[in-house]
Amino acid sequence: MDKRTVFEASVAGRQAIMPPPLDVPLAEMPEELKRSTPLALPELSELDVVRHFTRLSRKNFGVDSHFYPLGSCTMKYNPKIAEVAASHPGFTDLHPQLISCESYLKSCQGALRLIYEMEELLAEIGGLDAGCTQPMAGAHGELTGVLLIAAYHRDHGNKGRDTILVPDSAHGTNPASAAIAGFKVREVASTSCGIVDFEDFKKCLADDVAGVMLTCPNTHGLFEPHVAEMSALAHEAGALMYYDGANLNAIVGRARPGELGFDVMHYNLHKSFGTPHGMGGPGSGAIAVNALLAPYLPGPRVVKSGNNFVLEEPEKTIGPMTPFFGNFLVVVRAFAYLRALGGEGLKEVSKLAALNANYLLHRLKEEFPAAYEGLCMHECLLTAEKMEKESGISALDIAKALLDRGFHAPTVYFPLTVKEGLMIEPTETESRETLDAFCDAMMDIARLAKEDPDALHRAPETLPVGRLDEVKAARMLDCADLPESD
Ligand SMILES: *Cc1c(COP(=O)(O)O)cnc(C)c1O
Repeated sequence: MDKRTVFEASVAGRQAIMPPPLDVPLAEMPEELKRSTPLALPELSELDVVRHFTRLSRKNFGVDSHFYPLGSCTMKYNPKIAEVAASHPGFTDLHPQLISCESYLKSCQGALRLIYEMEELLAEIGGLDAGCTQPMAGAHGELTGVLLIAAYHRDHGNKGRDTILVPDSAHGTNPASAAIAGFKVREVASTSCGIVDFEDFKKCLADDVAGVMLTCPNTHGLFEPHVAEMSALAHEAGALMYYDGANLNAIVGRARPGELGFDVMHYNLHKSFGTPHGMGGPGSGAIAVNALLAPYLPGPRVVKSGNNFVLEEPEKTIGPMTPFFGNFLVVVRAFAYLRALGGEGLKEVSKLAALNANYLLHRLKEEFPAAYEGLCMHECLLTAEKMEKESGISALDIAKALLDRGFHAPTVYFPLTVKEGLMIEPTETESRETLDAFCDAMMDIARLAKEDPDALHRAPETLPVGRLDEVKAARMLDCADLPESD
């Protein structure tokens, strides 16, 4: 049935399931609930179904099949040990309403203990005092954090603090979260070196500022050298510091946001700790806070009472951010990941993440110059601006040509501050051989840009579909009808 759809391949009477014998009394379906015509579902054998889905999955690029250097999104290897933990029936079969009454709580003590210990680990890694696993994505963690900052100021009678400072290099979710929480956003400029402009920061810091959101390393892949000074000045001015932890894998085990002066942060458990990011799958934007903000945390919280774990509302809670405890199985994966690596393993993560990114930067810089000078952290930001001017080969052409060579494209055209940007995040888990193969492919593309640029404009030529109109492709998912762009 290779080329046919499952509907075309359907043969009446074929089936893929072997239902177990009935072990409950047979109930008659009430007449009014019965369909008048049979449901038009394809009828296929088990083998047909398995082959259909396996064939579809091979058309995809994924972390389990391809190098996936999608900067800022950290599509790294997700250890299978974390999948084993997250598929344990003791976790997957738990009914969320078990937390609804005290007698049920006894039957989910293991899950509560995991949340409790995970929140302790998050606080430890962040150099902060308490963790919370509720938020379901990075952006949701940001919203939670900014609401905590608002609650703090309200509680302290700090009137007129209605503004959050956000650097122009920030991920778009930062200003969006601040705005959704009811704040005005004031943008802080970057310097030509790709870091926050410290002088502009000082100018922006007035007594209407409630908080500052910073990403460090920032979205240019650079560590902010003034981060501790910025924290100190913000605190002096009565503002709180928010750390966007999406790039935590660059510093994990080596520097702790709490010690850099941050009051609240989020983790992208689905970027840094064992769950791949993207495609709208479940995520977790767990947060951690210091003692100033702990009383306002979302409730209920898991606390220890003797040998038991019970639930408690924080004194001045902002209320729940999610029903139950967020995407629990993503939290289980992250817990397994952290426990499997341990403190020493996490230090290795940040070391190798930065080493691999700098290796790529070094091997590629002749043809693809760095957007900013110096060493990078966990990802390198290159630019094809010169190549585009000289041979008409854009970052998009390079991305498409990489697909033909068996590599997922890096992030392109982000951050917006860089022209023809290529943001490459190799992650800590790739081998030297894979990195070399990727660099060879990039160099081959650079050669073609000079010798035969048209070959690159035609890419991809080896995939099930050619170059698509990107805007239409996102709206018309049936690729049979997709127009190719010219
Ligand atoms: C991914 C990312 C976010 C947002 O996280 P989501 O889980 O996608 O909502 C925020 N900031 C930075 C720097 C990121 O890379």
